[in-house]
Amino acid sequence: MHASYTKNLDLVIRKIERARLAYDPHHIVSLLAVSKYATIEQIQILHECGQRAFGENKVQDLKQKSQALESLPLEWHMIGTLQENKINALIDLAPTLLHSLDSLKLALALQKRLESKGKNMRTLLQLNTSFESTKSGVSPTQAPELYREILAQCPNIKLEGIMTIGAHSTDYKVVEKSFSLAKEVFDSLQGLGARTLSMGMSEDFEIAIACGANLVRIGSRLFA
Ligand SMILES: *Cc1c(COP(=O)(O)O)cnc(C)c1O
Repeated sequence: MHASYTKNLDLVIRKIERARLAYDPHHIVSLLAVSKYATIEQIQILHECGQRAFGENKVQDLKQKSQALESLPLEWHMIGTLQENKINALIDLAPTLLHSLDSLKLALALQKRLESKGKNMRTLLQLNTSFESTKSGVSPTQAPELYREILAQCPNIKLEGIMTIGAHSTDYKVVEKSFSLAKEVFDSLQGLGARTLSMGMSEDFEIAIACGANLVRIGSRLFA
């Protein structure tokens, strides 16, 4: 497995590198390995190949895997929908970044729990840029106002940017449009400290980087 994971990782990094240089030589892109379908052993092997940041979409999986691997210097990100009854558990796990803050209601509930525990959490506001009803996230038109509101009302939430999931389509233009929309919102929030634009998965990360993504979340390409 080691050899194939090294190969997967090298290939993904080479593609990220090519897309990044084409976009702007000064543009830096971080790679988050999405380990939601991977076992603890697989994560450990990918770490031995050089990967440090991992993402999970369920709090209980994040807990189980991060605790099993706590002797390793890994970064853990929460990328899936956060249910309010899992907020306490997530705070206790102290993730590096929550990518999926997707409503003011959730932000207020999170703020309340963070405040009572005396903790902060770095987060991204999740946008629904494909207008697919199956996807969570706030609408791009409401996002700037909501971003300001969370900054104003939630001092323990450290909002650092935007996350989106690209449109589910084989049409390059449709996917590109969803990413460009996120980039526009991201740009409009520069004055408010937005610096992370999390978008791009196994099938569309090169399009996302061409649209300005600086953090890509890749699962199946790495763990295949
Ligand atoms: C699963 C998942 C990914 C990674 O998807 P792949 O297609 O396996 O690369 C990225 N982001 C989110 C939010 C996910 O749920």
